[in-house]
Amino acid sequence: MNENLFFDAHCHVMTLNHPNFINLLGAAEGGISDIINSGVLSPSYILTDENKKGLKLVYSVMNTLGAFEQPMDKTFWMMDQDLRGCFLRSGFTGGAVYGLNDGKGFLFRGRRYDKVGLALQLMDFSQNQEEYRNVYYRRAQLERINDYALETVSAIRKYHRMHPDGLFEFFPFIGVNTAVHSSRFIRSLLEKYVNVDRTEVCSGDRRLFRGVKVYPPLGMDPWPEGDSSQMSKVRILYDFCQEKRIPITTHCDNQGFRGVRYKLSQEYTSPCRWEKVLKQYPDLILDFAHFGYEYGLASDVKSFLPVSLPMAGEWFNTIIRLMKEYPGVYTDLSYTGCMPEFYSSLIAFLKRQSPADRQLILQRIMFGSDFSVNLMKVQSYLEFYHILDDSDFTNAEVEGFVHANPMRFIGFV
Ligand SMILES: [Zn+2]
Repeated sequence: MNENLFFDAHCHVMTLNHPNFINLLGAAEGGISDIINSGVLSPSYILTDENKKGLKLVYSVMNTLGAFEQPMDKTFWMMDQDLRGCFLRSGFTGGAVYGLNDGKGFLFRGRRYDKVGLALQLMDFSQNQEEYRNVYYRRAQLERINDYALETVSAIRKYHRMHPDGLFEFFPFIGVNTAVHSSRFIRSLLEKYVNVDRTEVCSGDRRLFRGVKVYPPLGMDPWPEGDSSQMSKVRILYDFCQEKRIPITTHCDNQGFRGVRYKLSQEYTSPCRWEKVLKQYPDLILDFAHFGYEYGLASDVKSFLPVSLPMAGEWFNTIIRLMKEYPGVYTDLSYTGCMPEFYSSLIAFLKRQSPADRQLILQRIMFGSDFSVNLMKVQSYLEFYHILDDSDFTNAEVEGFVHANPMRFIGFV
């Protein structure tokens, strides 16, 4: 990879066809108490001080749905235009405009990058037959990931064709939910889509995928001890990824889409569950997304108060510990980086570390946005960039998050 890339190591572009809404309804069978206990009502998750006022929350839902409603290539172009400042209203003074008008490159914190690399994270919303036993059109619901992957490849090709000077290059991750597929399907999915040679592929080639995305809350136990058939399937994934040095991103906060009851989804998502995987696969390259942020559980009425304690979480601390033990453990700032106070807390946390530990942790953090899911919390793709720009991280630290660390994670260096 010769280009000097600025990376968004974690973002999503999908349409309303892709999430499995039947499946999400299924998760609600635990009733209202399950929803309350899930923390989705936690003030720091979606309700910000800004959008709590008046109609702000309604607008942010409309904004988010807008990004889900159009074809994917249009969304790529919308994000591209946004980074160039095309959506800013006149008189806006909220920071730098990053895209350069000459169409050559991208400026951030005074450094020029050739392109912005998007590590699109595809989620596998496929479901198995059993869960669809009461659904009439069940066949149509199976193995959705193939369609989503092929649509992504063609949207990327279309974006490049329509906008040869576009800001973006694409490094998608293929979603795999091992729990719902056969061993044969998992093997063929990996072989069909993942670019194991890390070569340049021509636009439109489906072997465009650079990594694998897993999403435990949809029902994938990363280490299904005691279930030999499930275990053999996760082993296919980890054997493939460790041997070929293919990175995995795993969702790691206590919110988001969910296909199983809340308590089970927490068990599967916890970095402690992954510690068992790492013991067996110590060279795995693994990104714990969202820095393991745990939103205040709403079982206690006090948690409705607008407080957040970003560093108190057990998941956060487990990720830090695993980074020190395993060379391939990374984290990303997606979604969690919508909260400026998270960055301040993280800086304070890093100051308390020994110089060697601080250095090690700083080399494992990647910038990621969680667009378009993050539109529930920020107004635009550009605003998420502004929040990092406005943080007190040094230019060298930021350069690590947006360039050096993701390059190493994906395997370009
Ligand atoms: Zn995400």
